[in-house]
Amino acid sequence: MTSTKASERMDNPFGRRRAAEPPRVEEPPRTVAASRGIPALPLRPMTGYEEELVEEHRDDANTAALCNELLARCLVPPGADATAARTRVRSLLVAERDAALVSLRRMSLGDKVSSRVSCPACGREVEIDFNLSALPLSVAEAPERVEVVVEGDIRAVLRLPTAGDQEELLSAGLDGESLRRTFLLARTLVRFGDREGPFEPEFTRGLRLLVRNAMEEALERVMPDLDLSMGVTCHDCGHAWSAPFDVPSFFLPR
Ligand SMILES: [Zn+2]
Repeated sequence: MTSTKASERMDNPFGRRRAAEPPRVEEPPRTVAASRGIPALPLRPMTGYEEELVEEHRDDANTAALCNELLARCLVPPGADATAARTRVRSLLVAERDAALVSLRRMSLGDKVSSRVSCPACGREVEIDFNLSALPLSVAEAPERVEVVVEGDIRAVLRLPTAGDQEELLSAGLDGESLRRTFLLARTLVRFGDREGPFEPEFTRGLRLLVRNAMEEALERVMPDLDLSMGVTCHDCGHAWSAPFDVPSFFLPR
C-alpha cells in the first residue's frame, strides 16, 4: 500500500490545520439554523458485487468516490440501482460517512482488522491488528451551517463539507493545499455579506488570508472529527507514525 499517497488523498485540507495552533478569528462563530440529525443508515453487509467494486477501483486516486459508492450500494439490495442512495451518502458529513464505513466493515467482515504497512523509517513490514469496536466512533452533532463575522461587519455563512464535497474535491485533481482550500471554501460558502451563493473559486481566491482563515476556523470548530488513521509503532526500529486509512486493505483483507 502506498501510505503517503493514500494520506494525501483522504486528508481533508481543513483537517490538517487542526493539529496546529488555531488561527485567530476576528469574532467567534455563531451557529445558525437547526442542528443536523445523525442519520441511521440501513446498511446491509457487502456481497460479491461490492468486493468486485473495491477490487476494480483499488488503484483509483479518488478514494472518496469509492467509499461513497460502496456505501450507496450497500443501502440497496445487491446489484440494484443505487442512484438515490448515492445522493443520500454524498449529503453526509465526512465524519458521518467514515463512521458508516466502519459499521459496514464490521458487519461485512467482522470486528478484527489485520493489516500490514511498511515502516517509513526502516522499510520493514509491520503487522497491525486492532478491533474496530475499540475506535471512538460517536460523531458529535453538528450544526448545518456556521456564521462568522469578517472584516468588521461582513457576515459569512458556510455549510459544513460533505462526503460529496470531498469526492468533488478529489476529482478536481487540484495540486496544492491552497488550491484545495479555495475550492472547498467556494463550495461551502452560502452567503458573503449581501452576496448569495453559489460562489466560484475565483471569489474565495480573491479573499484576504485573514478572511479565508476565519471562515475555515469557523468550520473547523464545529466539524465533527473522526480520525481513521492508525497509530503504528515499528517493532524493529521503534519508529512511531500514523498510517492512513487505506480503503482496499480495509475492505479486501487478504
Ligand atoms: Zn522501522
